[in-house]
Amino acid sequence: MAAMKLSTAFGIDPASPAIRRHNVQARAALEAHATGRPTRVLLKCSEWVGQHGFYADEVGLDYREYYTNPDLMLQVQLEAARRRREIPVHDLILGEAPAEGWMTGVDLWPAVAPGAFDCELMYRRETVIANRSRHLSKEECDALVLPSIEGGGIIGTIRQFHEHLVERYEGKLTFLGRTVDHIRNGIGTSGFFSLALDLRGEEIMADMYEDPPFVHRFLLRLADWTDALTRRWADPAERDAPFPLTDHGIDMLSPAMYEQFILPILLEKNRDKLQVPQLFHHCGRGQHLFPILARHFKIHTLHALTYPLLDIERIRVEVGDDAHIYALISDGVLSLGKPDDVRYAVKSLLTPRLKRHGRLSLISGDLLPGTKMDNLHALYEAVKEFGQY
Ligand SMILES: [Zn+2]
Repeated sequence: MAAMKLSTAFGIDPASPAIRRHNVQARAALEAHATGRPTRVLLKCSEWVGQHGFYADEVGLDYREYYTNPDLMLQVQLEAARRRREIPVHDLILGEAPAEGWMTGVDLWPAVAPGAFDCELMYRRETVIANRSRHLSKEECDALVLPSIEGGGIIGTIRQFHEHLVERYEGKLTFLGRTVDHIRNGIGTSGFFSLALDLRGEEIMADMYEDPPFVHRFLLRLADWTDALTRRWADPAERDAPFPLTDHGIDMLSPAMYEQFILPILLEKNRDKLQVPQLFHHCGRGQHLFPILARHFKIHTLHALTYPLLDIERIRVEVGDDAHIYALISDGVLSLGKPDDVRYAVKSLLTPRLKRHGRLSLISGDLLPGTKMDNLHALYEAVKEFGQY
């Protein structure tokens, strides 16, 4: 079998003055943060297996192949991680393999849970995998046989991909001086309410008014299933983690509906862990949900809060100064705007008042295909300029 074709060196010269200058500055800013005396807001590159849009653009990746060929999946993830370390648009050390190792894994997010339930998946050339809702009737929802967490639907495929990658590459493949270890299985969900939307569709929100007992019953079954799935496939150290607050789709719910249908399940599932600080990832428009979450849970990290869709200053007041806020500039600005729009967005976000309270970082989002590199340069320059403490 042919070996995987991978780059054998970074495509930049780490000794060149521009790269050295970047690395000195970024290292100083990162170290200042690590020691609790930040000099400016950081722009972190969120690294996870599903983030490769900018690289996909560069190489003209066909996403239909990416999602069906585990070798290509691994290759793209490694090369995207390499490429990220060649472009000075984040506080990331360039021309060096990451000290914490390469982030790789099976990547069928966000179609894992819906794929387990046989939702129709859409493989498209230009962008990430997606799924349709099954629009089941209430009767079908009640009669639904939940898939096996061992191998139901697409979970079987994910396991095959994972076993293949581990067997062939884990601990054996070296990329740019670092061994590829800990290839993740990529099994998880986007939350039980998300899954309810995948199965019942937006009708679930009318059900909340017309048939509350059905909604309680259905959501609890799905929450039990997502809980079992996540714990079964989590790394051993994370099997006892709190039940996640993160759920894509919840921002469509009013505070009253959230408190009636979602919150009781979160409280019950976390009844022994209410004092354990949690991460809350929210890339939507759920401004109204933060006071509710802050009232009931301790939160150590608020991740992917999107500006200007959300009023980050107000959220800071609502959740207090302890949470580390990771904000990002909306794709609408970053993909569709001009460099000046990006600069203005960063300037209006990084107010002295926001910077005075609690830890704050910016991250780049998923960098969907089509994001202009000029805008990423403008983003980084603006963070360095307006992010000074
Ligand atoms: Zn998200």
